[in-house]
Amino acid sequence: MGLIVQKFGGTSVATTERIQNVARIITETYKQGNNVVAVLSAQGDTTDELIEKAKEINPKASRREMDMLLSTGEQISCSLCAMAIEALGFPVVSLTGWQAGFQTNSSYSNARIKKVRTERIQSELDRNHSIVIVTGFQGINKFDDITTLGRGGSDTSAVALAAALKADLCQIYTDVDGVYTADPRYVKGAKKLDEITFDEMLELASLGAQVLHNRSVEMAKKYRVNLEVLSSFSGKPGTKVKEVVKTMEKTQISGVAKDKNVARLALVNVEDKPGIAYQVFSLLGQKNINVDIILQSMGRGESQDISFTVKRDDADQAMELLLEHKSALGFERVDVNKEVVKVSIVGAGMLDNAGVAAKMFGALYDADINIHMISTSEIKVSVLLDEADANQAVQAIHSKFFEE
Ligand code: ADP
Ligand code: ASP
Ligand code: MG
Repeated sequence: MGLIVQKFGGTSVATTERIQNVARIITETYKQGNNVVAVLSAQGDTTDELIEKAKEINPKASRREMDMLLSTGEQISCSLCAMAIEALGFPVVSLTGWQAGFQTNSSYSNARIKKVRTERIQSELDRNHSIVIVTGFQGINKFDDITTLGRGGSDTSAVALAAALKADLCQIYTDVDGVYTADPRYVKGAKKLDEITFDEMLELASLGAQVLHNRSVEMAKKYRVNLEVLSSFSGKPGTKVKEVVKTMEKTQISGVAKDKNVARLALVNVEDKPGIAYQVFSLLGQKNINVDIILQSMGRGESQDISFTVKRDDADQAMELLLEHKSALGFERVDVNKEVVKVSIVGAGMLDNAGVAAKMFGALYDADINIHMISTSEIKVSVLLDEADANQAVQAIHSKFFEE
């Protein structure tokens, strides 16, 4: 008997039958004597469809109005799920982000949770013994405006609630059996992991494995949330995300990830003098444009090139910003390439295995795939490639590490 937070993603609530299936999973957990708080995403592709609808009316709609719109998807799935649970004869209440106490900052469309005031949920659990269904992905800011947490943010809502309520377990129910060594939809031979560390999961999530929202992993690590990823369809055991894992045999890497939300910008013929990199990256930083991989070429006489990657969504804004400051920065032109992807390998095992990066590059060489940029840290190696090569690259790297 305990308190369990369960989160169900878009595919898991996409249809009436699936909502009824989710209602069964929730009520089974409740019948076993647990308090249950469930966090739901919007049904299927609802969020994408709402974005398309907004674009038809105003492609430059304010982020505030976008959040007002996008938050509605989760209200639909939650109220429908509560109705399904009512029909099964259990006490239930659905709550929006603000009713559930999610207080965020004011970064519309990418808001950060500041605090979860759990009084309302707690009283529903204690006084009414209700099952509580909460809209994922949303909160409210200090102006009482609705905010959303960024795409995929319902995972973070669930983990934040689990942390605030000191839940015994946080289960992320999705459409695959758990966390795999690569996206099981695209990579042949991808293997399900029984366990993975917070650190490795955080890297994988940040590098494009969308199975968990990266901020949810960060938060689970910080607040020591007992976290598990599993399927709402198969009933099989999932993947436990933990501080330390015990593995019989240490593998060199735990997974391969691909991130398509990348673009490369190149400042061509920049003056080779102190302060240029500082000026370029300060400008981008002031506009909250995150820069990832940076490559500065050797100087050619008086000039050099600086290339770097940003999120693809930020590429146009970054280019406009640099062009506005063209004369001050003194470069010849900016090249933008949006047809690139970042492919990464992640694993704590890299620390005591020399040659892991070489093995990755070898797999790409064998597949005749060209690398544009490389970046490394203690537990990951990332390469920037042409988008057209991405799937083949992931498969080649995965086969090299997991099949040979
Ligand atoms: P949900 O709607 O449940 O939040 P998402 O679509 O956000 O689900 O995340 C689940 C998807 O993540 C899977 O369908 C799978 O295609 C993808 N995915 C990418 N990398 C991995 C991985 N390493 N392990 C498992 N799934 C992955
Ligand atoms: N519905 C939101 C999205 O599609 C949030 C989520 O599903 O986690 O991004
Ligand atoms: Mg998701």
